[in-house]
Amino acid sequence: MSNLSNLILIWYKSHRRDLPWRNTSDPYRIWISEIILQQTRVSQGYDYFLRFMERFPTVQALADAPEDEVMRLWQGLGYYSRARNLHTAAKSIVSRTMANHIAYTDGKKCNSFSETTREDKIFPKTYEEVRALKGVGDYTAAAICSFAYDMPYAVVDGNVYRVLARYFGITEPIDTTHGKKLFAALAQDQLDPSCPGDYNQAIMDFGALVCTPQSPQCTSCPLAETCEALRTGKVDVLPQKEKKLAIKTRYFHYVWVKAGDYAFIRKRTGRDIWQNLYELPLVESDHQLLPEEVMQAIKPQLTEEETPQLILLFQGVKHVLTHRVIMADFYQLILPINTRSFASYHKIKVEQLNDYAFPRLITLFLDKSS
Ligand code: SF4
Repeated sequence: MSNLSNLILIWYKSHRRDLPWRNTSDPYRIWISEIILQQTRVSQGYDYFLRFMERFPTVQALADAPEDEVMRLWQGLGYYSRARNLHTAAKSIVSRTMANHIAYTDGKKCNSFSETTREDKIFPKTYEEVRALKGVGDYTAAAICSFAYDMPYAVVDGNVYRVLARYFGITEPIDTTHGKKLFAALAQDQLDPSCPGDYNQAIMDFGALVCTPQSPQCTSCPLAETCEALRTGKVDVLPQKEKKLAIKTRYFHYVWVKAGDYAFIRKRTGRDIWQNLYELPLVESDHQLLPEEVMQAIKPQLTEEETPQLILLFQGVKHVLTHRVIMADFYQLILPINTRSFASYHKIKVEQLNDYAFPRLITLFLDKSS
């Protein structure tokens, strides 16, 4: 066992976090927790995980659920493609199990299908099968296989990159093809094959709690004596990245159209952010528009006899995503209750808005406006 693994496993024995997705070898629970925790803090993901497991306790329950319901439970977590992928993958696991079962029983009706769909029986068992699930990359496949099945696959996430880069003093950028290969091989080298699940959890916890991005606890760190970055004064500059993310700004002008107790919404269907979530009527542009320009843009949605007044409610609301910043203005438009305008939108009761999944930007607006 390497010096690093040994020290980290000793540290882990007394510092491991007690989390609801630990102490289980159920691959389904582990899968859900790993997808929820990608790009999400543990404190934020905790309640989402509990709610998700309560509503969808099995792969079958998730596969059977309508997509809108899955999205609603995910609302606020962001990265909505992860929820869509989970749902698609759950359906593919169940349909593959059914196909195998039918083949096994030679097409004869058999009462034991519910027995066959037990979680421990239907979840894929090999690394390749797990890796082939929609939305599962190298990291998640290694996490599921090592935590659930104790298979010797090393995880490499942001925490692992940081600990390895600092401990070994590696200046190779972590976001190049060469850097990724180098770190993946090093992580695999460090893995203790006698307890891969514990080792993987240990190094991730260590990166999250001790060797943190800002203000790592070097003075009390059990690796301090042999840490190369500490010895050479490079803790603050490691790990290194080559590319800077290009951040694009988009300008959204939302119109909160009300007609009596009714509001107008629609589903975002294009290949873009927030796919399959709902939103208010939107005018997008590459710069902030004046109220009269917004009015001009929504005019085709209005019937000729209606010339309502557009009221600006909130201006310049900044919403930051990974690769973009959304600058949003919110307007209000009041129409008669029996209006025929905005005919291509869903006209729903305001009190039913809670039944739909919206991006967080809109939920915050609706909370403020109600
Ligand atoms: S000494 Fe500091 S930089 Fe090195 S592993 Fe420990 S916390 Fe990280």
